[in-house]
Amino acid sequence: MIESFKAVGGCRCDTKPVRYEYTARPVETHYCLCTDCTDTCGGAVALISVVERNSFVVTAGAGKVVNFDTKATCHRKFCGDCGCHMFLEIDAFPEFVLVHVPTLDRGVDPGTAPDRWVFTDSRHPLVTLPDDGLMRYPGWQVATHLRRVENNQPVSAVVTVTAKPGMEKTLEELLRSLVAPSLAEDGCMLYELSRDVHNRRTFVLTETWENRQTFEAHGISPHMDVYKKSVAPLVEARGANVTQAL
Ligand SMILES: [Zn+2]
Ligand SMILES: [Zn+2]
Repeated sequence: MIESFKAVGGCRCDTKPVRYEYTARPVETHYCLCTDCTDTCGGAVALISVVERNSFVVTAGAGKVVNFDTKATCHRKFCGDCGCHMFLEIDAFPEFVLVHVPTLDRGVDPGTAPDRWVFTDSRHPLVTLPDDGLMRYPGWQVATHLRRVENNQPVSAVVTVTAKPGMEKTLEELLRSLVAPSLAEDGCMLYELSRDVHNRRTFVLTETWENRQTFEAHGISPHMDVYKKSVAPLVEARGANVTQAL
């Protein structure tokens, strides 16, 4: 079933306002404490939905939208008449538009609940973060690579890693070191290391996580960090399939 979804918003002009809409649920929604957002918005925090560009359209007043680059790679869009900052584009994420959620019409569901705080290292000292249980990241951490993962269903990954000749033992030890700490993580339903019975240099990690959030948290865990920093010189080939049950 194709879900019908639409969120609408716009600027503060009484006459001929800029209007925009997006018709797919955002990849994610986050609270941003970066100084670029907070200084530009004049607020303590920005609330941002990451929306696929092909679902986003300015439906009225496009001629009033002006751009201001707060960085060479960050293009912020304002209404030239009322000054309202509605959305922005970042060069590193050409497939997405970042929408300032408060500029949606009040009462409109943004489509995705906030799931993280980013740039907590830039928090203004007068701001106290709520005890909301959301993930917190000192810097930029968005999950655009997980955009096709359904949020509330288990997600599995099958990762295939082939060692360079002579590196089998070192690779095996590195992979083995992931198993116990991964199984101990929240939301881990399966984490298994196996070895191809034909090509003995090929190892396979089979993992299942309760949902996108725990899968993502695993990807940035300290043990995965060590793995990612160490694995490149050991391997000849790598592949991964991320799957969800039909
Ligand atoms: Zn306006
Ligand atoms: Zn920001």
